[in-house]
Amino acid sequence: MQYISTRGQAPVLSFEEAMLSGLARDGGLYVPQSVPQFSKADIAAMAGLSYEEIAFRVMRPFIGDTFTDGQFAEIIAKSYATFGHDARAPLVQLGPNHFLLELFHGPTLAFKDFAMQIIGQMFQAVLARRGEKLTIVGATSGDTGSAAIEAFRGLEAVDVFILFPNGRVSEVQRRQMTTPSEANVHALALGGDFDDCQARLKDMFNDFTFRDEVRLAGVNSINWARVLAQVVYYFSSATALGAPHRSVSFTVPTGNFGDVFAGYIAKRMGLPIDKLVIATNQNDILHRTFVTGAHRKEGVTPSISPSMDIQVSSNFERALFDAYGRDGNAVAQVMDELKEQGGFNVSQGAMEALRETFASGRASEEETSRTITEALAHTGELLCPHSAVGVKVADEHLDPATPMITLATAHPAKFPDAVEAATGIRPPLPSRMADLYERPERMVEVDNDLGVLEEFIRGHRAA
Ligand SMILES: *Cc1c(COP(=O)(O)O)cnc(C)c1O
Repeated sequence: MQYISTRGQAPVLSFEEAMLSGLARDGGLYVPQSVPQFSKADIAAMAGLSYEEIAFRVMRPFIGDTFTDGQFAEIIAKSYATFGHDARAPLVQLGPNHFLLELFHGPTLAFKDFAMQIIGQMFQAVLARRGEKLTIVGATSGDTGSAAIEAFRGLEAVDVFILFPNGRVSEVQRRQMTTPSEANVHALALGGDFDDCQARLKDMFNDFTFRDEVRLAGVNSINWARVLAQVVYYFSSATALGAPHRSVSFTVPTGNFGDVFAGYIAKRMGLPIDKLVIATNQNDILHRTFVTGAHRKEGVTPSISPSMDIQVSSNFERALFDAYGRDGNAVAQVMDELKEQGGFNVSQGAMEALRETFASGRASEEETSRTITEALAHTGELLCPHSAVGVKVADEHLDPATPMITLATAHPAKFPDAVEAATGIRPPLPSRMADLYERPERMVEVDNDLGVLEEFIRGHRAA
């Protein structure tokens, strides 16, 4: 299995190289050259298997000879042993034909753990074999950073630097990043918003001298291995509800388009997915793109669902690549327009291709809050605000013929202020992390300045 860049100008890589390098050297994102196909029988055979067994079957065709079957099974077992639920990704029912996929039972209480735990294990195995060390830099709106620090803390072969927007993450998110005491993890509070963090990260990757000097690697959702790990729960949940013998739809609370793109890959592999519904908060660039055909940035307005406060939706580039018939030059051109003019018009053909698979909707702050209140009243479920954006938008796309699965992307205790404001209930942390508020914090405030950041990273690497 080989990986190519969405901009067509970077070297073709193996899974192992694509995982270690993150962003392609032409500024594009790596995607598989072809998508493995699962037959109806392959999918039917997943019914009743454990999450780990489904993970093995779904990911195996993508990883080439990076790991033996035995090594890969062991990596998967270790990755999900840290979860607080034996099903890993359990489904609960919200109403007639509407289900919630709980993706928040991992060590940092958000779906990012599904990918980050296994990326940590894969990096460790590959680097140990190669006798190499890397510097991982990540940008986070809160959940990626905590998941990355949790996954990489204490690993010898990596130093981890996480940029988060100062003052714009929840207290639980911040504490999950600032309380691990291992010397190889660094939480950097950047003076700016998430898009600034992501822009500085991209700048570092495009500074090839720095990139090569510190052996920079990325674990943001631009990293293909993360997308791949997220494909698994589309299969586990759809087969639990009767796929491949019937179709299902998904609604996905979206910021960077990574999670919903994983659903698109599942569909391309043969999973019968009817609609993939993109759910945005008031930072609705993706919803506006589907309504108007123009992909245009506006300022980020902080919301009660901060992990989706994004206007530069990196993984959308992967969907555009397919929508433009895998024409890397066309993608490079619209991405340049986005950078220089703040937006571009999606071609009519590409827009039609996108609308075949994706639908979209948006939830205002008030609608999000009301959905949290109403879900509790009608189902007893406490939703985190991101999941509530999903449930609100899913409700507008329900179809009696097709089960709808809404992804619950975080545990309500990760965003207790918004949940308490909507319900009067302050959701407690699961007992396995109940002392989070007492642990000492450690973080560094940094300017939104590439030179300053690179200097800090150079000076604080151990590897
Ligand atoms: C990251 C995140 C999202 C958005 O996921 P993308 O892959 O960026 O679309 C939604 N909800 C929560 C809780 C998150 O942490």
